[in-house]
Amino acid sequence: MADLAATTGIEVPTGLFIGGEWTKGGAGLIGVTDPATEETIAEVADATAEDALDAVAAADAAAAGWAATAPRERAECLRRAWALMMERAEPLARLMTLENGKALPDARGELAYAAEFFRWYAEEAVRLDGSVLTAPSGANRILVVRQPVGVSVLITPWNFPAAMATRKIGPALAAGCTVVLKPAKETPLTALAVADILREAGVPDGVVNVITTSSASRFSQAVLGDPRVRKLSFTGSTEVGRVLLKAAADSVINCSMELGGNAPFLVFEDADIKAALDGAFLAKMRNGGEACTAANRFYVHEAVADEFTAAFAARLGALKVGPGLEPGTELGPLVNSDTRSKVASLVADAAAAGGRVLTGGAVPDRRGFFYAPTVLDNVTPGSGILNEEIFGPVAPIVRFSDEAQAIAWANDTEYGLVSYVYTRDLRRSLRVAEALESGMVGINRGVVSDPAAPFGGVKQSGLGREGGHDRLLEFTETKYIAVDW
Ligand code: NAP
Repeated sequence: MADLAATTGIEVPTGLFIGGEWTKGGAGLIGVTDPATEETIAEVADATAEDALDAVAAADAAAAGWAATAPRERAECLRRAWALMMERAEPLARLMTLENGKALPDARGELAYAAEFFRWYAEEAVRLDGSVLTAPSGANRILVVRQPVGVSVLITPWNFPAAMATRKIGPALAAGCTVVLKPAKETPLTALAVADILREAGVPDGVVNVITTSSASRFSQAVLGDPRVRKLSFTGSTEVGRVLLKAAADSVINCSMELGGNAPFLVFEDADIKAALDGAFLAKMRNGGEACTAANRFYVHEAVADEFTAAFAARLGALKVGPGLEPGTELGPLVNSDTRSKVASLVADAAAAGGRVLTGGAVPDRRGFFYAPTVLDNVTPGSGILNEEIFGPVAPIVRFSDEAQAIAWANDTEYGLVSYVYTRDLRRSLRVAEALESGMVGINRGVVSDPAAPFGGVKQSGLGREGGHDRLLEFTETKYIAVDW
């Protein structure tokens, strides 16, 4: 096995983190694979259901103390964690590249974004407000206060191993909640490193606990059946989200769900084509296409489609593909072999249905879970590739001639996370933004993520918002105190 500390520059814990202690898992060990080499780079603890319940017990034991800790003190812990993450940004980015495969520049970008959730929520921890109203009768006062929702279970995916964890831990701790985090089995190391940083930053024992497991369902069945758990914050696929919502229903657990996306990217005939190409590149290729916000379908007006498509194919075709840690790499491998098979089969089906492969469309002949950056032109509306999350470096392009048609196609999906619109016409941009069924819209922008913004989807892309002040409130309960004074 590789010497992780030598390759990354930091010691990474590999145990379960329960009540401030690193412990072994009762179910043995899980191997972590480098997607660029297909080799095992580390082994982490595999938790049993009992281990998961021990973590819930530790979070429960720490809950009252953390809720009573002065908001300023909670804020200082988060602020120190931000500083430590930034100090160790390079080793942490290398670690993320090793376990996830993403190119090092993507990992560096994620690391800064991830750390910012700690800084931003350090600032929010001292701004948890309530209200006092006079009842319409004039006789009484309505006093409203916010209290921490309680022990929170956080489940995160592999595509942003640092940011998806900090985006949940930051607001939870700021609001006064204690947490049990379960990272994806592909990328547990980054989550464990983040937990170690929080410990070093002074977060008390039991406030943050991390459970790694080879059986996600064993974990969720145990913790969602435990009445001490009051909140579930999940980021992952819509399919798993549905399963967890059903499981959470029995104990009526408060749920926030950040689920899948199928983002349309609309380029109108009056767009600044150079800006649209830059935006399309970011929206498609950030994180190698493995993002819930990734542009999944390109609708391009026929008047500019030839110019846009040729330039986009040239840009993607010129990308340097290789192991994420190799200098100059712009696109790393996909996370695992199943993800690559899914991408390859979506492309094959779209090509068989008449889509024209302008670049890529193949699995490179090399070790690692690589897939060539691909542009498909003239994809037929209704093709499978337009209905499913591709989660890879593939851009299907559909040509349109009419604004209403483009909006109808864009909205023809069960998802509604984010949409992108490129036009120079202000009235059109706002009209289209209002008509698009998504929780977020980027107007002449290819990236919308921001710790200060309410991130989230409509339809089957989720429930609730992450980031911004909204998220702090999602880790609280509203208490109404009826007063007669
Ligand atoms: P996934 O298969 O849904 O897994 C996400 C997490 O859920 C992992 O930790 C996984 O654990 C766990 N999980 C799976 N089945 C479970 C169960 N029965 N009980 C409890 N936990 C369970 O998603 P993924 O493939 O990791 O991530 C890609 C998906 O995440 C995409 O759909 C993407 O759009 C979505 N995503 C959404 C956002 C957003 O903000 N909306 C952000 C990023 C990603 P294991 O790893 O152990 O299976």
